[in-house]
Amino acid sequence: MTASGIDLYQFTRAELSDLIAGWGFSRVHAARLWNYLYWEQAESIEAMADLPAKVKGKLLAETRLGVLPVSLATDSSDGYTRKFLLALPDGLQIETVRMHFTGRTTACISSQAGCAMGCVFCATGQRGFSRHLTAGEVVSQVVHVARLLKRAGEPRLRNLVVMGMGEPLHNYEATLRAMEIVSDGAGIALGAERITISTVGVVPGILRLAEENQPYSLAVSLHAATQSERAALVPAARAWPLDQLMEACRTYSTRTGRRIFYEWTLIEGKNDGVEHAHAVGALLRGLPAQVNLIPLNPTEGYSGVPGRTSAAKVFQQVLAEHYQLPSTVRQRRGIDIAAGCGQLAGAARDAAAGSVVGAD
Ligand code: SAH
Ligand code: SF4
Repeated sequence: MTASGIDLYQFTRAELSDLIAGWGFSRVHAARLWNYLYWEQAESIEAMADLPAKVKGKLLAETRLGVLPVSLATDSSDGYTRKFLLALPDGLQIETVRMHFTGRTTACISSQAGCAMGCVFCATGQRGFSRHLTAGEVVSQVVHVARLLKRAGEPRLRNLVVMGMGEPLHNYEATLRAMEIVSDGAGIALGAERITISTVGVVPGILRLAEENQPYSLAVSLHAATQSERAALVPAARAWPLDQLMEACRTYSTRTGRRIFYEWTLIEGKNDGVEHAHAVGALLRGLPAQVNLIPLNPTEGYSGVPGRTSAAKVFQQVLAEHYQLPSTVRQRRGIDIAAGCGQLAGAARDAAAGSVVGAD
């Protein structure tokens, strides 16, 4: 193996220990290495000063540290959102977003370069699919945000949403492996319940999460309560029709005992009416659920208009009063730098509107 060897970010703690032990070194060095990766958030193998030279030499020869260089960092005028364009080793680019809310910071990470699902209102979908990210590339995004917070003396990262570019359940193995690594209590230590995986509704993936009783929160992007309306917005609904999706959600909640967050992008005149609220209320009846309403963010390839604030309020009222369904309206963040939900396209041009803070 060459210097461009295996990415250290792709190993779980146990695997890293086995790797080091397999080379004939003490497992103590593996623990130290893990600390460098996830406590110190070291930027290179060379910077791991306390590792013996022979261990470091072997690491340099056989592995690499998959830090993803920042091509561009852009701040939103909202003062809370920073978007990073990160370069993958093969020249593709992905986006990671850091959002400050009162008292907490959330990282929004990508699971794929592009997306194959083709949702009509989503910039990632409009761009098409390039490739799956490796587990290491998913982990590296989280480490990037954690490192920034640490270097700035800010409280550690507490929340993670896999809601950036791509469909995480289309890249199940790598995404779930990455979640195991970043939730490891001896490292980045994100609480599993503070990690949310958002899916367009990949039925086999939802069933697998249920079967494996994965501890993470699950969000399902619904957007419509009938098969025909949904298929018009979300082409993946043709592969996994609404009735099968709802059945999978029911199985998931029964097996795991957890509620699902159902996401609903509000598009004026399409799915933001009282009748739509009743339809989703009826669809989710009896299921442990919360509805997250997301006003549509503008993208180049879709001419729809965001649902009005007043429509969102009425929508919420209907859900609460008739169906006892809790709901929230997603705070809009980073729209000027195209860092909002569904606006990530992995392109540098979006930065034009915000203030470029360079590649830090
Ligand atoms: N592929 C996954 C996760 C990434 S998309 C999924 O689809 O769930 C994250 C969320 O952004 C989804 O709920 C998606 O429906 C929503 N979204 C996509 N495009 C949007 C847009 N233009 N405006 C608002 N929300 C959007
Ligand atoms: Fe892919 Fe999600 Fe965008 Fe649909 S909304 S195209 S599934 S990233």
